[in-house]
Amino acid sequence: MKKLFSVVLIFSLLFATPVLAAPTVELNGKPLAFVEAEPTIENGRTLVPLRAIFEAVGATVDWDQDTQTATANKGSTKVLLSASSNIAEINGQPKILDVPAKIVNGRILAPLRFVGEAFGGIVEWSPEAELISITFLQDQVHVHFIDVGQADSIYISLPDNNDILIDAGGKKAGPKVVEYLKKQNVDDIELMIATHPHEDHIGGIPAVLEAYQVKTIIDSGHLTNTATSRNYSEAVASEGAVHNQADYQSFYFGDIEFKVLTGNNKWNNVNDYSVVTLLDIGNIRFLFMGDAEKAVEDKLYDVSAEILKVGHHGSSTSTSPDFLDRVTPNVAVISVGEGNSYGHPSPSVIKRLEDSNISIYRTDIHGDIVVSTDGCSYDISCHTAE
Ligand SMILES: [Zn+2]
Repeated sequence: MKKLFSVVLIFSLLFATPVLAAPTVELNGKPLAFVEAEPTIENGRTLVPLRAIFEAVGATVDWDQDTQTATANKGSTKVLLSASSNIAEINGQPKILDVPAKIVNGRILAPLRFVGEAFGGIVEWSPEAELISITFLQDQVHVHFIDVGQADSIYISLPDNNDILIDAGGKKAGPKVVEYLKKQNVDDIELMIATHPHEDHIGGIPAVLEAYQVKTIIDSGHLTNTATSRNYSEAVASEGAVHNQADYQSFYFGDIEFKVLTGNNKWNNVNDYSVVTLLDIGNIRFLFMGDAEKAVEDKLYDVSAEILKVGHHGSSTSTSPDFLDRVTPNVAVISVGEGNSYGHPSPSVIKRLEDSNISIYRTDIHGDIVVSTDGCSYDISCHTAE
C-alpha cells in the first residue's frame, strides 16, 4: 500500500508542475537539431543555442567574450545581440527584445523569433504541433542580358554572391562587360560558360579574365583555328581556373540548379557546338541556347522554360516550331545588334514568337534586359544607353 502511495505521489508531483516540452524547430520545412542544448521556452518566447540558429539561417557569427555580444552577418544584414541587454541592433537600428539572449549552464541562448525575422524569415508558431517554423523565401535572382550589339553576354546574379557569366560579347565589348559587372559589384565569377568559339561570344572573355578571378570555366571543347580561339585558349590557360568540357553536369547554388544540357557531340556547324544551359529556380526556368540551331534543338529534352534566350540571335536556322512547342516560353529574349548585316532576327522567327503570344525583348531595341525572379514570379526591366 505504501509503495502504491509513493508511485501515486510521484505521478502527482510530475503533473503538478507543468513541464514544457522543447518545441520542434523547422527551417524551410526541415527539422533543425540543436546538439549543444535543447530549445527552451521563457515568457512565451523560445530560446535556442545562439551559434546554431545564426548558422542555420546562413549567417556568419562572431562572439565577443568581453562584451558578451554576438555579431552576425548575412548578405547586407548585420545583427548585434548581447547576452546582457534586451536591446539588439539590426543594421545599426536598436530593437527591443521581450526576452534577451541569456547564458544557461554556460550556453548562450538566443531568441529564435528575433533571429529568424532579423534576417527576413517568416516565423510561425503552431501550438498544437509544438512546432516553430522559419521560412525564408528564396533570395532574388537577376539575369542580365547585356546589350553587347550583335553578340551575346549574359550575367546571372545568384544569392550569396554567386555569379555566372555566359559569354562576354566580342573583343570590342569586353571592356563594356567588365564595366557592367563592376557596376553590379561582382567580386569574382564562380562559373563562366563560353558557349562556342565564335568571336561574338568569346572575343570579350580575355578582358573579363584579366579583370576577374574565375573559378570554373565550361566550354564545348571545340576550338577553331582563329586568332580569337587562340587568344581565348591562352587567357583560359593562364587563369588557373578549373576548365572542363560541357558534359551534362549540374551546378547547385542552394536550391537553385544550373544545368548543362549538352555534352561531347560531333556537329557539322560551329554554332551547334554551343553549350546550352538551363537555370532552374523554384517555378521559373531560363533556357540559354547560345547559337545552337535546329539540329541541337531536336536532341534536347526537358526544355520547358518561362524565359528563352533565343538561339543564334533570332536566325531562322534556330527556334524551330517543334522546339518552341516544347519550350513554351512566356518571354523570348533576343541578343542582337541594331542594323546587323545578317538580317537577325529573322522575320519568320519573330512571327512565330508573336503567333504563340510570347513577349519579345531585344537588346537592339530594349538595351540591357534584366529579368528578376524569386522563383515564384518574375519581372523584367530594360535599360537603354543614354
Ligand atoms: Zn553568335
